[in-house]
Amino acid sequence: MQRYQMYIDGRFSDASSGKWFDSYNPYTGEVWGQIAEGGSVDVDRAVTAAHNAFANGPWSQLTASQRGALLRKLGDLITRDARKLAEFEVRDNGKLIAEMVGQLNYLPQWFYYFGGLADKVQGAVIPLDKKGYFNFTRHEALGVVVAITPWNSPLLLTAWKIAPALAAGCTIVLKPSEFTSASTLEFVKLVEEAGFPPGVVNVVTGFGKDVGTPLVEHPLVKKITFTGSDATGRAINQLAAKHFKHVSLELGGKSPNIVFADANLDDAVNGAVSGIFAATGQTCIAGSRLLLQESIHDQFIEKLTALAKTARMGDPMSMDTQVGPITTRQQYDKVLSYIDIAKNEGAELLMGGAPATRTECGKGWFIEPTIFSGVTNQMRIAQEEVFGPILSVIKFKDEDEAVAIANDSSYGLGSGVWTSDIGRAFRMSERIQAGTVWVNTYRAVSYMSPFGGYKDSGIGRENGADAIREYLQVKSVWFNTGAATANPFTMR
Ligand code: NAD
Repeated sequence: MQRYQMYIDGRFSDASSGKWFDSYNPYTGEVWGQIAEGGSVDVDRAVTAAHNAFANGPWSQLTASQRGALLRKLGDLITRDARKLAEFEVRDNGKLIAEMVGQLNYLPQWFYYFGGLADKVQGAVIPLDKKGYFNFTRHEALGVVVAITPWNSPLLLTAWKIAPALAAGCTIVLKPSEFTSASTLEFVKLVEEAGFPPGVVNVVTGFGKDVGTPLVEHPLVKKITFTGSDATGRAINQLAAKHFKHVSLELGGKSPNIVFADANLDDAVNGAVSGIFAATGQTCIAGSRLLLQESIHDQFIEKLTALAKTARMGDPMSMDTQVGPITTRQQYDKVLSYIDIAKNEGAELLMGGAPATRTECGKGWFIEPTIFSGVTNQMRIAQEEVFGPILSVIKFKDEDEAVAIANDSSYGLGSGVWTSDIGRAFRMSERIQAGTVWVNTYRAVSYMSPFGGYKDSGIGRENGADAIREYLQVKSVWFNTGAATANPFTMR
């Protein structure tokens, strides 16, 4: 049994309580490791270390170019260990090795890109409308950043946060999900090997209420960057507001994937399957509402179910597997409960709708790829995020109705539009209320392109050059270069 300690101030250590909690392999349903169970004492140690590193340590003396070089070194180490890190995530999370090898080979790009940006953050000289003054701006690092991640994509989402935060000059306390902490603790070994000074990156493991809440409340923390559910995001936002902390929130989704009759239907079928069954539907951008134009509805459903039925389930460590297990037992129960909810609401079950009993699935937490048709947008199955391999198919007549249905959601994260009419594609991209619109594709992301939510899907953006600004604050500096002494009782 492998045991994972926390990482604070450049050292691995047990939790101050001495307690451990179990980490499960979702393919076997068995415990494979133990993680140190942190609490407020560990939180205080980690935040204090991060604060000291920011305020006084060697990190605070580095130039931006030196910070960039460290980030690029870290990128090289991830490239070296990509396969090993991918395997940890497969074991702990049930993600497919076929996806994780590609993801880990791409992950270094976040560290190269933001490493390159570190020394390109520039203020401006402002051409003032007042004579006798010189005014310029500085972009200064916020300080200690808390990064809280969910279980569905631990390393990718960690990279989205820490690469721009470190490039900006901040220091970090990471809190991975209690369900999938191992890969983050493997990753932090590379942070140490790259030569980041102690205290710059710390990892405190444990549960939301014991570690997450004290981290958000800690007076030395300046910013919280969070990815997770909207319920937790709301709680964090309220607590952060009390202490005037900066927040970025990447939350859930109920993304519409919209197919018009003039689309290339084979491509769209591919996009619909990728939207909901890739990563077993456990992605914030899952295209969980498939909107089909009436005239192609039946033909599309036929093609869609034919392709979905070929999905190979089983060992996520096998390169042939296409649909893996649900990551946690709790999530498995939740997904099954939504199948009952959909049935009770009158949706028509087209395929799946039950735990997978295929022999390749062993004792793992598998659920058959499931498709419901006859869904109306008012049903809970169309409004609430399931976070699993459950697709709701909704019919629409024309463009206006497609937009109305797409936007009738508290969420606004991703969206897909399938059409061969370029004018329609542009109109739809303007009218859909979502942080991302994919036209004739789905589930594409890059370190270069901004990602984030409209409405309840979040606040702030990750990725893209502006993401570094989420970790900076602007200072305006004024010099008197000869302005006459002014009346002290009026504004200058
Ligand atoms: P979650 O909200 O339950 O947990 C996320 C993290 O928050 C975990 O580390 C957890 O321990 C911590 N946490 C829980 N309660 C806390 C509290 N009170 N204070 C501080 N931290 C607390 O989410 P999850 O179930 O791990 O992840 C699934 C959710 O994440 C889905 O809703 C999904 O849509 C969302 N998600 C969003 C994005 C995005 O970029 N928008 C990406 C991936 C996942």
